[in-house]
Amino acid sequence: MNRKLTLTILILIFFVNACSSLPQNSDPLTLIESSVGFLPSGTAIPVQLPGTISDPQLLAAWIYLSTLDDPIRAWGGSEFTGRSLAQFVLDNHIPVGWSTPDICRFSCTVRPICEDASCPRKNEMDYPIYLDPSLKTASIQKIAGSLAHEIYHHTEPFGKVRSSLFEEYWAFKIGDSLSGSSWVPLVNGDEYKLTCLRQWFVNNIAETYDLVEYPQEITLEAISNETSCHFESSIRQDAVVTNP
Ligand SMILES: [Zn+2]
Repeated sequence: MNRKLTLTILILIFFVNACSSLPQNSDPLTLIESSVGFLPSGTAIPVQLPGTISDPQLLAAWIYLSTLDDPIRAWGGSEFTGRSLAQFVLDNHIPVGWSTPDICRFSCTVRPICEDASCPRKNEMDYPIYLDPSLKTASIQKIAGSLAHEIYHHTEPFGKVRSSLFEEYWAFKIGDSLSGSSWVPLVNGDEYKLTCLRQWFVNNIAETYDLVEYPQEITLEAISNETSCHFESSIRQDAVVTNP
């Protein structure tokens, strides 16, 4: 099948999928062709594309994410791939756009918050993902990693509660692993050491998070007071940081 015919079929499928939710005046042909320009040559374009992403660079990030099949281990034995996270956006019709200063300072995910974690899920269209516009000059891998980070938040791994440092840690692990960054995670289990969790943020994240450290789901018994921290990396593999 030649490229033009393939693209035509994709556009038709996309249009059927998206016509009810695309902003008016969006042209699926222009959108997909523009997205391809952001992708490495030869990237496979999925048959089904989300109708909730109308920016070509963000659609390209979603497409790139959907090609990543390596599983990333997350909290509680769960595993995610780029493909499964991309599918989550598709299945739940989550809008993805660029942030503005009146929405949030960097990237963010709008999601329902219920202190007792019991409120019913509303229409997913009410809970968009916004990415930091400074990413517009970043690689498509980096944008896809940030998108994965925010999608992980959107899966509400700890229920309909506010985020926590612990949740952020896993979001960074997933996003940075998928974007191929040189992120240095804690050795499995050390994320339950409060000192190590805090230390990881000091070491890796310039931004200060005003968040609780652990969600309620992580019980006090699970949180350790040990202060020796181990990092997964060929550089720091043998390094043990003991905090005062
Ligand atoms: Zn986050």
